[in-house]
Amino acid sequence: MRIVTTVSAMQRLARGWKRKGQLIGFVPTMGYLHNGHVSLMNKATRQVGKRGVVVVSIYVNPTQFSPEEDLANYPRDLARDKKLCRDAGVDVLFVPGDKRMYPRAGSSRRDGGTIRSDVFSDFSTHVVEESLSRGMEGVSRPTHFRGVTTVVAKLFNIVLPDVAVFGAKDFQQAVVVKRMAHDLHFPVKIIVAPTVREDDGLALSSRNKYLLPDEREQAVALWQAIQQARETVKSSKAPVPAGRLRSELKWLIETRPAARVDYLEFFDPETLQPLAEVRRGTHIALAVFVGKTRLIDNGRL
Ligand code: AMP
Repeated sequence: MRIVTTVSAMQRLARGWKRKGQLIGFVPTMGYLHNGHVSLMNKATRQVGKRGVVVVSIYVNPTQFSPEEDLANYPRDLARDKKLCRDAGVDVLFVPGDKRMYPRAGSSRRDGGTIRSDVFSDFSTHVVEESLSRGMEGVSRPTHFRGVTTVVAKLFNIVLPDVAVFGAKDFQQAVVVKRMAHDLHFPVKIIVAPTVREDDGLALSSRNKYLLPDEREQAVALWQAIQQARETVKSSKAPVPAGRLRSELKWLIETRPAARVDYLEFFDPETLQPLAEVRRGTHIALAVFVGKTRLIDNGRL
């Protein structure tokens, strides 16, 4: 496995593969990898076939974190990540630093550990999806998706993937990225891979590391709420009023002392528009603080 740290070296490699007609599969991540990430790597490997190559990027993108968020403490373990990627048969691990991705973003421009995109000295172009990114995560984290679409567009221009794999765990992100790739004519196929879960149903996430043991137990509430919503829809002959179901699930979640619902939404999985009535095929997404850790999950009902 090759480790590449500069934009120019990565682009050179990618252009070489393209000239030889090799397909490029790509999995962008923020590192601290787990089996959810590995499932995306496996999917990418299958997609590009024997002659294809798979690139994984690890970059904790400062512009998708707000100043109050966990950028400075975001978990990192590059040695372990390298081993995991090598074992998964990844061809290239792309690990650019902030200075490579956002030139001249000097340490003096950090604000409480966060590099602020609005103070970059040599960066002033953003990619903004203006519809699907507005609700849910976009309400709670207003600048988040601008950071995501911008960095993903940059990474696509660096890695030149034919196929990029994203996780259903971050459902809204996958839909927003798909729309961006479509709207801006990126010649890449976006694939969404299913959420990988712990035995008790908790979705794997790098942020689970923050959970204290009793919080870890309570974190299963997100999965239980999704399951409860599925049961309700299944057993009900008529569509279920969204307001009523939301209240029931919020109550169920918040019986855990450490859990506080940030949002809980029922919506159309294509348009992400909120729905007043919940039925089979409706999508649920929720964000819940468990202690200080904000967890998200979603599922089709
Ligand atoms: P992150 O490192 O959290 O930015 O995630 C990188 C990619 O892995 C994103 O496309 C996520 O949606 C995906 N991912 C994260 N957790 C899971 C999971 N439990 N199952 C499947 N994919 C995941």
